[in-house]
Amino acid sequence: MPKSQTKRPAPRRSARNASYEIVTDRGRRLHVPHRSRHVPADVWVDFKRAVPEAWRVMARDKGFRIDRRVRDRTHVALECELCGALTAHKIYTLRTAQPRCGGCAEAEHLTQARKAGLTFLHRDRVNRHYALYRAKCGHVVKRQFEFLHRIAAGNTDVRCEICLQQREAEEARRQGWLWIGRDPGGNPNYRLYRHHCGQTQRIARGNMQWGQCDCARCGKSWAAKPSFIYLLGIEFVDRTPRLIKLGYSKHPIKRWRHQLKLPKSAKVDVMRIVAMPTGHDACGTELAAHATLLQQHPELAVPHEVYADVLNVTSEVYWPIAEEVIHTLLDGIEARFPAKIS
Ligand SMILES: [Zn+2]
Ligand SMILES: [Zn+2]
Ligand SMILES: [Zn+2]
Repeated sequence: MPKSQTKRPAPRRSARNASYEIVTDRGRRLHVPHRSRHVPADVWVDFKRAVPEAWRVMARDKGFRIDRRVRDRTHVALECELCGALTAHKIYTLRTAQPRCGGCAEAEHLTQARKAGLTFLHRDRVNRHYALYRAKCGHVVKRQFEFLHRIAAGNTDVRCEICLQQREAEEARRQGWLWIGRDPGGNPNYRLYRHHCGQTQRIARGNMQWGQCDCARCGKSWAAKPSFIYLLGIEFVDRTPRLIKLGYSKHPIKRWRHQLKLPKSAKVDVMRIVAMPTGHDACGTELAAHATLLQQHPELAVPHEVYADVLNVTSEVYWPIAEEVIHTLLDGIEARFPAKIS
């Protein structure tokens, strides 16, 4: 019936956003509009009444053939003249609107997916606006139908999150960093990385790609300059007990005041400063000292919650009783890095 076919709107437009569930009956798939998805499949059985001739004419004019009546007196199964698929619709829809074909909608999804370089797998079970696709890389990606139209139109491309993450992890690895995740600050250009020294920091992904990713703890910009390992005793006026802090810095004084973010009322006594030839030595040696302390005297480390409110660090804080052990460690360090008189 070519005449009636020409009356149908372009399937692409009508298929857009169309949403159908599929039930099978007598070996044929019956597309059921999404709004009826709660209706159990076994409801879509034949409704054994004659099909009025007027309905047949209406259906023909709209590009369908009435296959049979289904479910109740208000529904019919329409067979699409274009693709032959069966779709359940209300007589009311047939009378007042252009019924949409579930088969054409599905074919449209497949075509859009192919144009976007994806293989359509199935609709998302939870959100009807989404479907799952297999990307060229082999990973399964979840995308909105609307997004697929944009891809097919060349306005955007499919980025597989898994591949992207693997690429970013590899970029980071080449620079000596471990990719941890998204920017905790929510900036889409930044990621969170961990350096091999243990330092965790946010770096713009672009900078990581170009190797502009100086570690704030052991980075090249200061690694070759002299540095210090320090041991501080800190007393607070609130109920925080006396604590000792072992650390390193190129400017020990700056470090206490600016980086530890000590309350103004806190009293600091410098118990010891060991000069180190380079920041690199200081960083490595200090890390090794903490590792030794944690391994041999884990009980000396102060739990973070004790000082979370008064110190801007998350570790490297010890109970005063650790003083002697730390001094012994520092003696060893001093012996290995004798201070140069210059
Ligand atoms: Zn169709
Ligand atoms: Zn992938
Ligand atoms: Zn580092």
